[in-house]
Amino acid sequence: MIENINIGIDLGGSHVAVGAVDKNGKILEQFEKDFTVAEKRNLLNVSIKYIVETIEHLKKKYSFHKIGLGVAGTISNGIIVRSVNLGIENFDIKTELETKTDLEVMVKNDAKCEAIAEYLFGNFDRFRDREKKYQNVLFLTLGTGIGGSYIYQGKLMEGTIFEGFEFGHMMIKENGLPCKCGKKGCFEKYGSILAFKTKVIEKLNLSHDIPGQELRKKIDDSREEIKDIVEEYINDLAIGISNLVNILEPDCIIIGGGFARYDYLLLDGLKEKMVHSNLLFNLRKEILMKTASLGNDAGIIGASNLE
Ligand SMILES: [Zn+2]
Repeated sequence: MIENINIGIDLGGSHVAVGAVDKNGKILEQFEKDFTVAEKRNLLNVSIKYIVETIEHLKKKYSFHKIGLGVAGTISNGIIVRSVNLGIENFDIKTELETKTDLEVMVKNDAKCEAIAEYLFGNFDRFRDREKKYQNVLFLTLGTGIGGSYIYQGKLMEGTIFEGFEFGHMMIKENGLPCKCGKKGCFEKYGSILAFKTKVIEKLNLSHDIPGQELRKKIDDSREEIKDIVEEYINDLAIGISNLVNILEPDCIIIGGGFARYDYLLLDGLKEKMVHSNLLFNLRKEILMKTASLGNDAGIIGASNLE
């Protein structure tokens, strides 16, 4: 029996992953499942069955007393209040899993789990002027939407009833594009990687089903043609992130999600825009901003460290 193990689960709209993680944030073993189109219609039951079976299997090999679960949605006291990606409203997943596994279950928003993982185990040494661990770190996950969280004085900042830090749903354009949250002009309608990809797909007349790798090649081959789109995207992103910097003044900013795949195209321009466009209240010569270092593993690792 292997001792001192934490279990982390990452539940998203297309995928569930369960991992056994050691105290150093290393995944020892991982099981994952991609949902079929039919399974997505019954996502909750399919995921719970898969999670419970996987936990039973892991119990034979590892010794653990609790499970951490990261979910793409708004969480309150173990209840999935709303998850647009999973199509779930007001479901008490904590009680459901605790009953079925006989273990304590901690639940948190997936972007917050990723932030915890990056903060605890990410490669902060990539910041060249780092002497001690940063205490105040802003995390943004730019993917289908925008997730976020803030580590303040080394701890995840949280609301009391709701989790808060819904950076993706701060309004950056009055009467802007309608958002799935019901509001208009939300930051994620302009700053998510989906927003960027959608603009490119429309400009280049591509299919919305184009595989990611193919799209990246098209983007590389059409740099000149999509120059305006890149500039517009960076502008919108710079406005949103600058607003957050003006409020929080983090020591550094970490960006995760699909953005990492396009950082060579976007990151330098974004920093440049933020520093030189009269967007920041406190002027500075440079901004410490990097892409996340743990990639897809961050969700499981962060969930395994929930307290
Ligand atoms: Zn919104």
